[in-house]
Amino acid sequence: MLKIAVFDTKPYDEPGFIKYAGDDLEFKFFESRLSEDTVQLAQGFDAVCVFVNDDVNAHVVDRLYAYGIRLIALRCAGFNNVDIRACFGRIHVVRVPAYSPYAVAEHAMALLLTSLRRIHKAYIRTRDFNFTLNGLTGFDLHGKTMGVIGTGKIGRVFIDICRGFGMKVIAYDLFPAQDSGIDYVTLDELYAQSDIISLHCPLTEQTEHMINTQTIEKMKKGVFLINTSRGALIDSEALLEGIKSRHVGAACLDVYEEEADIFFQDYSGHIVEDDVLARLISMPNVIVTSHQAFLTRDALDNIAQTTTDNIRAFFSDARLNNEICYQCGHAGECKKQRRGKCF
Ligand code: NAD
Repeated sequence: MLKIAVFDTKPYDEPGFIKYAGDDLEFKFFESRLSEDTVQLAQGFDAVCVFVNDDVNAHVVDRLYAYGIRLIALRCAGFNNVDIRACFGRIHVVRVPAYSPYAVAEHAMALLLTSLRRIHKAYIRTRDFNFTLNGLTGFDLHGKTMGVIGTGKIGRVFIDICRGFGMKVIAYDLFPAQDSGIDYVTLDELYAQSDIISLHCPLTEQTEHMINTQTIEKMKKGVFLINTSRGALIDSEALLEGIKSRHVGAACLDVYEEEADIFFQDYSGHIVEDDVLARLISMPNVIVTSHQAFLTRDALDNIAQTTTDNIRAFFSDARLNNEICYQCGHAGECKKQRRGKCF
């Protein structure tokens, strides 16, 4: 029986893992996030399973390695919270590259429609038997230009959804998809032409704070920004200034750069220390959801299935299709081609 420590778990995470546990996997669910303070909980386990806000820095990696752990199973797609370089050659890292691009893309559109058609305001009004329409004017999506940054799995589903609304879609990607029928433009062209911009690229050194004071200035006045990718793609203070100056017409945020200590927790009844987040939330044209875009039944089931498949593949010495590593992200031959693993 393999023992797996699952960090940062919530009640909705557990059923899927229990469903796919079989006779060979035993899961211990920890509510705590994996960090330097909690890493000792991993002692005695064969592998750890982590999510988006666990902090798997080099120190944590050293401790895990010392405990004999050779596998970190991410139950998400993004891996910016794991020091992949520190893991290389010692601990294999697997992830769930795609569990439901539909879940995230549909949430991005849900946020946009909510914000644009003022559904969040209307819902509160009619519950109070206030049936007035003042302040609820939106605009048609049909005929507007959507700028999509990152045309991977989620970005492409989102493009299809936008086309269904009769929108013109333009896109930017570091690696444009060949023969995809996507209308690629430069980033500057995308900023200048888009009525709405949606971010679907990963957080990297290159993309951190790609939405900042300078790039906001290049956008149309009144632009809507949607971020369901990673919070640090946007410089939150610059966004706040853009909203205060009315240059940014609305922001739909499922992620926030300082979300790690806040999201997934109940802070009602507490005084939130993060002034930027508090100010953003106070704006009538900002909608924040708490990294919720992935949260559908279908996605949770796919996450649990792929994670358990990844764990079984590692311990049965099978090919690790979903492994990520420092070397794979860099030039050079990946050993996965020959050995099935990155090292
Ligand atoms: P993906 O790997 O399929 O696509 C990412 C795309 O971004 C690729 O086409 C890649 O070429 C492109 N890209 C890389 N660097 C870029 C750059 N500098 N500029 C422009 N494009 C660049 O990933 P995906 O499955 O579509 O997921 C996209 C992102 O969504 C993930 O990185 C993750 O951070 C985020 N995500 C969020 C949630 C959520 O619940 N909010 C859930 C899943 C994924």
